[in-house]
Amino acid sequence: MKLPRAFALVLMIGLLSTHGWAQQNSDDGSIHVWPVHGNVYLLVGAGSNITLSVGKDGVLMVDSGQAQMSDKVIAAIQEFTRQRDPNGPALPVRYIINTSVDADHTGGNQKIAESSLFKPLEGGEMIIAHDNVLAGMADAPEKAKPTHTYETEQYKLNRFFNGEGVQVIHMPAAHTDGDSIVWFRFSDVISTGDLFTDSYPIIDLEKGGSIQGLLEALNRIIDLVFPEFRVQGGTMLIPGHGRISDLTDLAYYRDMVTIVRDRVQDMVKRGMTLDQVKAAKLTADFDPIYGKRPGFSDRFVEAVYRSLNQKH
Ligand SMILES: [Zn+2]
Repeated sequence: MKLPRAFALVLMIGLLSTHGWAQQNSDDGSIHVWPVHGNVYLLVGAGSNITLSVGKDGVLMVDSGQAQMSDKVIAAIQEFTRQRDPNGPALPVRYIINTSVDADHTGGNQKIAESSLFKPLEGGEMIIAHDNVLAGMADAPEKAKPTHTYETEQYKLNRFFNGEGVQVIHMPAAHTDGDSIVWFRFSDVISTGDLFTDSYPIIDLEKGGSIQGLLEALNRIIDLVFPEFRVQGGTMLIPGHGRISDLTDLAYYRDMVTIVRDRVQDMVKRGMTLDQVKAAKLTADFDPIYGKRPGFSDRFVEAVYRSLNQKH
């Protein structure tokens, strides 16, 4: 679902410096904040999508963007939360939830946690992630690491925040072994992290990802999402990268992943090598939609191939 530009609240922070952060992302260097639904906003331009819950209790962030973007992210949150009262103070950031260990999702943790904007609630959690995210950040600076982790199937924030329950659900062995989705139960928005993006998924086998786990995760998210009748809408989804989406977008993505998996599986059964599978251009019909980032198609097919071979 695309929000019409005129309908959206846009915040632009000009590109003041060129610290080489742009190599791997197609962002234009500006931070934009878009309303999604209820308390929830999408901050784009930080390397990965950042979800914001904004309200009387302060700000909750899902993911923190790339490290190089932290100053701009902090400035954008200050600017945005002041818009309600231009002379008032910016709203404090109370929580960060990381959807995976990836540097474009956890890179801002340290700077944001060290900034004056970060004021956790008394007795509240600070940086929340699945246990495997903390395990994967062993070498990270102390301030960047999750302070509250969970090993169970799901984790509930220890209090209502901005008038709603916030539920963190682990999706095992999908993009990595530490993926979480975050469900805002009243706003009816789900942040999916990199389980769902605007490109072919990255299945990081070294970090415990698998094609089967990814498909299970996509199907579980689909189970949580309600459609609007015959039009765009319903439960809103914030992918790890790319635009605000709904059930139709997610179902199409799940179908694409399933179809590519089936094609690769067929060639695996016929004993084809990885080179033969790659040469068959199995994603050609989906490339105009999901193949815009260089190398993503080959990397996806290779990961599916290796993941399927791991199982046998
Ligand atoms: Zn990402």
